[in-house]
Amino acid sequence: MLDNAARSDNELHSWDRDHFFHPSTHMAQHARGETPNRIVTGGEGVYIVDREGKRSLDAFAGLYCVNVGYGRTSITDAIAAQAGKLAYYHAYAGHGSEPSIELAKMVIDRAPKGMSRVFFGLSGSDANETNIKLVWYINNVLGRPQKKKIISRWRGYHGSGVMTGSLTGLAGFHNLFDLPRAPILHTVAPYYYRREDRSLSEEAFTDHCVAELETLIEAEGADTIAAFIGEPVLGTGGIVPPPAGYWAKIQAVLKKHDILLIADEVITGFGRLGTMFGSDHYGIEPDLITIAKGLTSAYAPLSGVIVSEKVWRILEQGSDEYGPIGHGWTYAAHPLGTAAGVANLELVDELDLVANAREVGAYLNASLKQAIGGHRFVGEVRGEGMMAAVELVRDRDDRVFFDAAEKVGPKVAAALLANGVIGRAMPQGDILGFAPPLCLTKAEADLVVDATKTAIDTVAAAL
Ligand code: PMP
Repeated sequence: MLDNAARSDNELHSWDRDHFFHPSTHMAQHARGETPNRIVTGGEGVYIVDREGKRSLDAFAGLYCVNVGYGRTSITDAIAAQAGKLAYYHAYAGHGSEPSIELAKMVIDRAPKGMSRVFFGLSGSDANETNIKLVWYINNVLGRPQKKKIISRWRGYHGSGVMTGSLTGLAGFHNLFDLPRAPILHTVAPYYYRREDRSLSEEAFTDHCVAELETLIEAEGADTIAAFIGEPVLGTGGIVPPPAGYWAKIQAVLKKHDILLIADEVITGFGRLGTMFGSDHYGIEPDLITIAKGLTSAYAPLSGVIVSEKVWRILEQGSDEYGPIGHGWTYAAHPLGTAAGVANLELVDELDLVANAREVGAYLNASLKQAIGGHRFVGEVRGEGMMAAVELVRDRDDRVFFDAAEKVGPKVAAALLANGVIGRAMPQGDILGFAPPLCLTKAEADLVVDATKTAIDTVAAAL
């Protein structure tokens, strides 16, 4: 193995520019050395350290995933122990490994009522591919082959594969890729702050979202629509909790039209909203649930689809009629991932991180509101549990947004990083997002809030 610590920064940076094709990166700028080329080498608690020795408080938990924080040896030891014993065996045709079975039991024990089985994959994207295939399979088994369309929301994020990138409702993930593909449809984002008709109350806006969904269903024909997918709280689309009463009313419409509900809990699963699942928080009764990130806190790649007992019965019927399901990945239920998952969920319990997410998350949100809620360039501070967002606007009274070319969101995120805190400039709109590890303390939350205030003041002074 290369002794990377001994390599010069120049050598690593030039190899990186010349050979590493990074995801979600401006390729030409990176190759020219114009993007920040931060090489992260370590992490402890809520902090990461880079090769230059700079320590930053990671208030985005990587990509909303390192829920238990960095450097947890109980998880790395569990991975090492499993690797020493059995690094890999497949899960096809009923085979298993010990941690995969144990984790399946732990997931179902924690899942919302009515959930029955879990299929393990590797990423949130492949888990949503599984979801799409399962809802198609189900409707074929039930003899309704025309009921296949899936409704997602604008600003939803569900992955970046061909079909999951189609579910994703963000233009940046469609452009130049010929997405979205049929049979994916999109309905209105439940984003109250950015509503078109500003005269609407929050409740009236919920009714508007519900009416838009019903109109779409009626126009397409309910007998052509298989499923609706949504994140309990919109994540990458801007960290947007739903308007009051949204989920109860949406669910009633879906039930009426016999449309399955997929709760994409890749971000909200395992504690982020201060409840084990976002579905618990909002009273959602999903048919299928997507999980990833918080399942292992990203110590190893692992995702899953949790299916309800009702869905499971149809899947069983399908295999009795047609044979084994023709779906799986070589690395499905990889033992290193599931060993990480077991140790991670044990740690979530041991440290009571769901309660901490609730308490410190509420504190973080309240403190942000207090510190910057009245700033002339802040239109809204919003959040739920350990998620928060700051909407930056040119004019808060008339809700005038900044021109995207001014890059106000990225500038604030850069100023924040200069102050030692990592937040995320969300991809659509000048929105600064936070999703810290669930182990954040109140003192660390104070650091995030102070650094955010300073960063906004710094950028505001130059506007
Ligand atoms: N669903 C949601 C809600 C997500 O936030 C993400 C990733 N940010 C995904 C799916 C896709 O997960 P992955 O990047 O692991 O494919």
